[in-house]
Amino acid sequence: MYDDLKKYIIIIVGILIMIISIKTCDNNDFYKNIRVIDNANRIDVLVNKNYKLKSDFIPNNLVKLNLKYSTDDKYMVEEAAYNFEKLSEEAYKKNYKIIAVSTYRSYQYQEKLFNYYAKTKGMDYALSCSAKPGHSEHQTGLAVDVMGSNEDYDLFEQAKEFNWMKKNAYKYGFILRYPKGKEKITGFKYEPWHYRYVGTKIAKEIYKKKITLEEYFK
Ligand SMILES: [Zn+2]
Repeated sequence: MYDDLKKYIIIIVGILIMIISIKTCDNNDFYKNIRVIDNANRIDVLVNKNYKLKSDFIPNNLVKLNLKYSTDDKYMVEEAAYNFEKLSEEAYKKNYKIIAVSTYRSYQYQEKLFNYYAKTKGMDYALSCSAKPGHSEHQTGLAVDVMGSNEDYDLFEQAKEFNWMKKNAYKYGFILRYPKGKEKITGFKYEPWHYRYVGTKIAKEIYKKKITLEEYFK
């Protein structure tokens, strides 16, 4: 009887250790084995917690967005800017407002942002809501955080524009970059406001297959 109990306990402890190590392994992949990106001017460039941009990387062809579609002076790579303006204009015609609140951010800006979060709210908070410098897609000039008519990007999911954006962004080459339930793949929490320009061909495939940019490259 005692031997049986011992056997069961050993098996249960073994299973628990296995579960814990699988979970830890998942999380440990982020910010480990980091590779530096060579050609970061490609529109399909993959930037995440394992692929890093150089600190001096500034995208070619940054242009200012039309102020009709942004809160103030915001810059994006020309092709992405052109398509974002097209998307925003199409939304506008339907009485929707899709406005850029954050686009290109330099390495140095991201560094300040991350350090600010770490200092004021702690490292865990900083890691959960911000990217370390070099690991933010905003440095590519291809990412955009948007707000809708409720004028708060944080509440974009509740804006009437969210559903339209979810269904139509791919037609203009944009994808919802950090979807719900894909946190273990992207390394980032669900961000309904963050869209990434990848061109219409890739965006369509990602949208139809309900995958992420990471899965697209697998
Ligand atoms: Zn963003």
